[in-house]
Amino acid sequence: MSYSMKDVDPAIRLDGKALAADIQRRLCGEVQTLVAEHGVTPGLAVILVGAHAASRTYVRSKRRKASHVGLDSFDHDLAATTSQADLLTRIDRLNRDERVHGILVQLPLPAHISSAAVAAAIDPDKDVDGFHEINTGRLWRGEHALVPCTPKGCLLLLRHALDDDLAGRHAVIIGRSNIVGKPLANLLLRADCTVTLAHSRSRDLPRLCRSADIVVAAIGAPKTVRGDWIKPGATVIDVGINRGAEGICGKTQLVGDVAYDEVSRVAAAITPVPGGVGPMTIACLLDNTVAAACRQHGLARAHEQPLGESAVRRYA
Ligand code: NAP
Repeated sequence: MSYSMKDVDPAIRLDGKALAADIQRRLCGEVQTLVAEHGVTPGLAVILVGAHAASRTYVRSKRRKASHVGLDSFDHDLAATTSQADLLTRIDRLNRDERVHGILVQLPLPAHISSAAVAAAIDPDKDVDGFHEINTGRLWRGEHALVPCTPKGCLLLLRHALDDDLAGRHAVIIGRSNIVGKPLANLLLRADCTVTLAHSRSRDLPRLCRSADIVVAAIGAPKTVRGDWIKPGATVIDVGINRGAEGICGKTQLVGDVAYDEVSRVAAAITPVPGGVGPMTIACLLDNTVAAACRQHGLARAHEQPLGESAVRRYA
């Protein structure tokens, strides 16, 4: 093995919960100002179709946090048998509802509903999940877009961990999904990283990862990334949420895509699971909703989350 595990200085634990709480505190102030000075309360509609257990938990958490920061939350809990046509009609109504600035349809959807058709039906200006092809296209072109929440959360964690110094770093992202890997590759490219987007057919993944200053795992397979895959001093972001065995008190344990104990002995900084990317995803959803409300009312924001803008300015 060419890289030995260091036996001193365990990695800094990147506390996504604390960073998300900072973002939410700032959003609280921003929402109060929007209400007091402009009479605008940002509104978020969250649609849940069916009773998928994990989705119910995520939706509950999103709604609770939306209320905490002062957003109006519009709850739509629909039966698993809801037809695609009925769902699209409801989305159309929300598109025209001026109290609603952001619309989120929780995935996965029942098999008879096309998630692509649902994403396409949402008004791109209210698409706080950033899955509409207009927002995808704008992101790739380096234009203003609503950016998917999980990759945006990863970028903010990296900016925090690396003191905004991302330019020139080699980032290896494992996973090329439309909701995590691809948009994150774009954001990191915009932040002037050199990006490798790896997947299940990539050859010699451990070697690829060992060449990276940043490794992001968005695989969906527990503890895939091992300690000897990591260059000493690298920053590691674990997006994975895998449901492990039942722990004490009968609660299912969540396990990441990274073997935390091994990797934390080599990396400089690493996100835990839970408590890393997950809370940042929700904070970014709330941030996107406030951004969407400001844009729909023609208001400049006091604070925009710093995404990767340097390349955009250069090539716009
Ligand atoms: P996905 O759509 O299933 O994509 C998984 C990706 O990983 C694919 O590109 C796949 O490659 C690649 N992959 C699978 N096995 C691999 C292997 N052994 N080696 C290298 N690459 C491999 O998953 P996703 O929706 O992006 O989610 C990924 C993980 O993140 C899941 O655990 C999910 O629960 C979690 N997640 C967390 C949050 C959060 O808020 N924390 C949000 C979204 C997702 P191919 O393309 O070649 O098949």
